[in-house]
Amino acid sequence: MSQEIAAELAKIVADPARVLTAPAVLDRLSHDFYWYSPILRPQLVDKRGEVAVQPVSVEEILAILRYAGEHEIPVTTRGAGTGNYGQCVPLHGGIVLDLSLMDRLEEITPDGVAVCQPGLRLGALETEARAQGWELRMYPSTLVKASIGGFLGGGSGGIGSVAHGGLRDFDTVRAFEVVTMEDPPRVVLHEGAAVHEILHAWGTNGILTRIWFALTPAVQWTQATIAFDSFDAAFTFAESIAVGSEWTKRLVTVFEWPIPSFFTPVKQVMREGKALVLVMIATEQLEALRAVAQSAGGEVAFAGAYDGPRTQPLLSDYTWNHTTLWAMKADPEWTYLQCGFSPSDCREQFRKLRERFGTDFLFHIEFMKNGEGVVIPGAIPVVRFSTPERLQEMIDTCREIGVFVANPHVNYLEDGGRFRPDNVQLRAKQKYDPRGLLNPGKMISFRRETPEVEIAQ
Ligand SMILES: Cc1cc2nc3c(=O)[nH]c(=O)nc-3n(C[C@H](O)[C@H](O)[C@H](O)COP(=O)(O)OP(=O)(O)OC[C@H]3O[C@@H](n4cnc5c(N)ncnc54)[C@H](O)[C@@H]3O)c2cc1C
Repeated sequence: MSQEIAAELAKIVADPARVLTAPAVLDRLSHDFYWYSPILRPQLVDKRGEVAVQPVSVEEILAILRYAGEHEIPVTTRGAGTGNYGQCVPLHGGIVLDLSLMDRLEEITPDGVAVCQPGLRLGALETEARAQGWELRMYPSTLVKASIGGFLGGGSGGIGSVAHGGLRDFDTVRAFEVVTMEDPPRVVLHEGAAVHEILHAWGTNGILTRIWFALTPAVQWTQATIAFDSFDAAFTFAESIAVGSEWTKRLVTVFEWPIPSFFTPVKQVMREGKALVLVMIATEQLEALRAVAQSAGGEVAFAGAYDGPRTQPLLSDYTWNHTTLWAMKADPEWTYLQCGFSPSDCREQFRKLRERFGTDFLFHIEFMKNGEGVVIPGAIPVVRFSTPERLQEMIDTCREIGVFVANPHVNYLEDGGRFRPDNVQLRAKQKYDPRGLLNPGKMISFRRETPEVEIAQ
């Protein structure tokens, strides 16, 4: 079957060299960072597509989808494959649609909107935007490698979210064109609220082919770390920077010790045994930051200019979900959760979790603005994995005490914590992919034969 698909795809794309069947290549293009999760690892290790294809135009995508639709072949879209939950791992074989060659930045409009193809790397966009006086509002810590299509398809926010919220907020995603899996496939423009039908739907209900992404004026940033004797002191200091409107910031992170000890390449930015606050702050505010840090009992351990994605050391490489990567390098028994603490009750929530799980649950806080404009202590705690039951106990306990959890140990949208309760993504799938061929198995509430669902009240 795979030979047959490959032969047909080779007739569709202009250059047959863009149809890939070598087992090692297929294996690589069928996987992401799913192995972060000890639960997903055994479930996904053997899954792979039968053929990969690298289109270079919307016309090629339309033709590939027309062929796949006629033969009911699953299609799983891939950006750069840096997702954490096996979002781009094909569960039912078929075609891997690798969009990495569609990476053109068309323009940055005078009012700061990047118009681009989905395979454009976020690092390349940040570099070009800064050259033109703009920068990304937010980006994942995988900035250098991740694509904008994959960020919109599978990501949520990151560095910059403390000021600009997540991808779903504040009209950052202005519009996109989407190729549907209808019979026949077509290109549909989604603007304004309609972007939420496709955003963070893991490529299950359409393929983004052209994106309008709002930027923000560039700032001269300094990256700095401040060491504190205790997590409590570090958290209180970081919170004051994160919520204080007088501070121009892009990143406010807190690590309790021993998390900084995992960051072996940058020993110079930490202090042995101490909690660490990591910030990106407007360079003009560095002296003011030093003063408040000192009066809060902190020691500025490092300060250096951020000069784009190639800055060395790039401290964002230790934040957001990169923190988990360093922890796993230090000890493979570490894994993670994705949480949102209550701004008013977080200290009590920290206390309860410490009491119940001891140092099997280490605090890593990422402050972020929510859609209502409130800065909250988001978190990607580093947690010790022993059994699935113990991990579930951690999730349940969090939820019982009012801590939001987006579970990163499941491979379908609904339990991941970011599925829209108003069902717009499911309704879009029923409309644009009625045969269920796009990334099948990842939106489990979809049934091919069920009547159209109504919007939940
Ligand atoms: C170390 C590490 C740190 C990370 N930190 C963050 C973070 O700070 N914030 C964050 O949000 N995420 C983070 N992630 C997850 C991931 O890196 C980002 O979400 C990234 O933006 C995904 O981009 P990608 O190109 O690799 O997408 P992929 O992994 O290739 O795809 C992600 C999903 O989007 C779908 N998709 C890809 N392209 C399209 C398209 N054109 N149209 C429709 N669907 C599409 C895929 O099918 C898949 O379901 C991290 C991951 C790792 C490994």
